[in-house]
Amino acid sequence: MNIGMRRGTSRAIAAVVLTAGLGGAGTLATTPEPAQASTAEVALSVGAAAEAPAAKPVDCRRVKCVALTFDDGPGKYTDALLRTLAAYDARATFFVVGQNVAAYPGALRRTYAAGHEIGNHSWSHPDLTRLSAASVRSQFSRTDQAIKAAIGIRPKLVRPPYGAFDTTVRRQAGRPVVMWSVDTLDWRYRNSARVARKAVKAVRPGSVILFHDIHPTTVRAIPKVLKALSKRGYRFVTVSRLFGGSPPRLVYSRG
Ligand SMILES: [Zn+2]
Repeated sequence: MNIGMRRGTSRAIAAVVLTAGLGGAGTLATTPEPAQASTAEVALSVGAAAEAPAAKPVDCRRVKCVALTFDDGPGKYTDALLRTLAAYDARATFFVVGQNVAAYPGALRRTYAAGHEIGNHSWSHPDLTRLSAASVRSQFSRTDQAIKAAIGIRPKLVRPPYGAFDTTVRRQAGRPVVMWSVDTLDWRYRNSARVARKAVKAVRPGSVILFHDIHPTTVRAIPKVLKALSKRGYRFVTVSRLFGGSPPRLVYSRG
């Protein structure tokens, strides 16, 4: 891969940016969504809290920041996680699977309304590098549609399942592809203490930590993570906030 290093202005954030150009893909078709709150209602409820207007945005050039990311939801444990994050005034990024959005649209609405960032993690979680360009496009666009139906926005970030991507995937994504710098392996080790230990030990300013909120063991690990890192002075921000509002085309933070 042709990878160029770019050191951002944010303290200790090193982002690797692929220099290949992106196509103008990523068109969004809308589909009518039955049995949902009206668009106006969604906009009202979401708009009130989405950017937490009362709070000044965290400046990651001045304070230690970390981006917690939660993949594969939403699911039945997402609301418990939201309560924990709220208790620590933590923002996170959720890379959601389209078919789970369709199953748990309310959980996604509450996630977004609480000020968290939403990213596209495909419709059914395949290895996208094994699919045709048209199938990759469909994986992203179906998910965009489900997210738009639930919260009224098209996500600005993509994370491919398994972190597997190639030129086709990046072109079809048409927006920043977000990887991670700390993998807690929480899907393998269903042990809260172990997951928390791994996250706390590996974190550096600018880290992007990978979790999965579909595992109750992970959700139970998060209070420990937040408590330990708060004590060390970390602030918990969305991926976009970590990069001052505009992430590079490929985020592979090594914080
Ligand atoms: Zn995943």
